Amino acid sequence: MAARHGRKTWQYLMACVLVVSGISCFPGFVAPSTGAAPWRLPGARAEPLEAPSRASLQLSVLIVGAGPAGLLLADRLLSAGCNVHLVEARQDPREGALEGRAYALGLGIRAQRAIRTLGDELWESIKPSGFASERFKLHISEKMAIDLRTPEDNNGLEPSLLIYQSDLCSAMLDHLESNQQGAGKLKISFQSKLKSLDTSTGVATLQSGDTLSELPAADLVAGCDGVNSVVRASIAAANPAFEVEQTKLPGSFKVLRFPQMPSKLDPSAVHAIPGKGSTSAFVEPTARGACALINWRDGVDTKPLPNLGELTESAEKARETLASYFPLIEDAINEDAGQQFVNQQASQASTVKCNSYHLGRAVLLGDAAHCTGGVSGQGCSSAMKDSVVLAELLQHEVGSGRSVAETLAMYSRQQVPEGHALLDLSLGPSAEVGPLKKALYGAASFAGTLLSKVGIGDPPLQTLLTTCLTPFSEIRRDRDFFFGDFPKQAEFDEMIEKVSS
Ligand SMILES: Cc1cc2nc3c(=O)[nH]c(=O)nc-3n(C[C@H](O)[C@H](O)[C@H](O)COP(=O)(O)OP(=O)(O)OC[C@H]3O[C@@H](n4cnc5c(N)ncnc54)[C@H](O)[C@@H]3O)c2cc1C
Repeated sequence: MAARHGRKTWQYLMACVLVVSGISCFPGFVAPSTGAAPWRLPGARAEPLEAPSRASLQLSVLIVGAGPAGLLLADRLLSAGCNVHLVEARQDPREGALEGRAYALGLGIRAQRAIRTLGDELWESIKPSGFASERFKLHISEKMAIDLRTPEDNNGLEPSLLIYQSDLCSAMLDHLESNQQGAGKLKISFQSKLKSLDTSTGVATLQSGDTLSELPAADLVAGCDGVNSVVRASIAAANPAFEVEQTKLPGSFKVLRFPQMPSKLDPSAVHAIPGKGSTSAFVEPTARGACALINWRDGVDTKPLPNLGELTESAEKARETLASYFPLIEDAINEDAGQQFVNQQASQASTVKCNSYHLGRAVLLGDAAHCTGGVSGQGCSSAMKDSVVLAELLQHEVGSGRSVAETLAMYSRQQVPEGHALLDLSLGPSAEVGPLKKALYGAASFAGTLLSKVGIGDPPLQTLLTTCLTPFSEIRRDRDFFFGDFPKQAEFDEMIEKVSS
């Protein structure tokens, strides 16, 4: 038994190393932004961020998915003069439906920057729904924790905002609706699911309830429809040269919403907590209590304890088991938390990697194009960055006479390397580099984290990703020694060209 506990502690410590090195496999198992000043890496490129002007881009755009990517894109394209039809499979989040949107996101500097391209007003309207946090505690045991980040690490940066996805999307929807200013250029259809798309004509079929309808051809169809994107599937069906790798990450998770932070935890910090067996919890403060992501591995022998995946019926049994697995948060695991646990389907995160982000009139953004399964905490910010880049390219290039097709190719050339780099940085060096380099990377990252606490070297990768605007591809190329060579821009261009031609 003692040996088994020793092994679990070791596994958790290894997971901690992975967290600080940015290669945790726990969705959302990431720290909030603090620390290093932005723009700190030498050679950091300035972002093409500009306040949108009320221009007149005469495009009809169908945006599939009202997540962060779709909502930001809709707002930007509406500002640019486009006719926008936004379709969303789920209910309006402002009606209180949480399905699929119950978890909290950390919005670091990249997301803040992207949101601010619509003006400070949107960011100011989002902020009250979130919780600003600069603290991250890594718990080693019930009694011992390491402060990986503290407010002292913050060099005047605005802290990360921890916000429920439902609250973020609600605030963005309010802004989007107020942005249309009665011009009649915006249509939003909730509970309407894209069923199929002809990527060459832009004709889409939509399902609302039992009714199927064909939409008028759009000049552009933006697939912001998340990890299981129908737009991406339509591209794949239309062109065999389009390649997508979708890989399930190990482990399952459920999300619990607590009315307040568990009393044994610092209420202003994000906490990574080891549980019994293969379990761990990631607890974040929010503007309304706390959000806990409970992770476990199915099939890992936890006897005599039940596997969390087996707790699907009795709320009381779920409450008791969770409380015994996580003594640090036991007071928050009440009857309601047990009920939340059994009511939910377990989720499994997956990653997505594509060799191009466009075909014909269709284009992919956010998790539909590249997904890290929540591992690096950059999914939302990278999704929003896609929207900013695409909106600005359309505005500048199509606005000055370039075709939509050429402009989408420019978007792919700019964003595919970013998507690939973020996935590498999130998962760490692949098995191809060999066990030695992988071990060296873990050790170097852990040592670097400790040294950065005393002012030596760069901050840990997670901090870097959330606190600077350096392109992911540059950060990835700086790590070629551990990861192997990252493709050159010309190689990406060639790969993308093969899909378009
Ligand atoms: C547990 C968890 C924790 C995370 N933590 C963080 C974090 O701390 N920081 C961070 O930056 N990221 C985090 N992420 C990742 C982040 O949530 C995603 O990367 C981000 O939401 C991607 O935005 P998106 O708009 O591309 O896709 P989504 O947010 O997935 O939105 C896609 C939308 O499309 C809709 N849709 C899907 N199919 C259709 C269809 N056929 N027709 C119409 N609509 C459709 C969906 O209903 C959904 O509303 C986390 C993810 C998870 C799961």
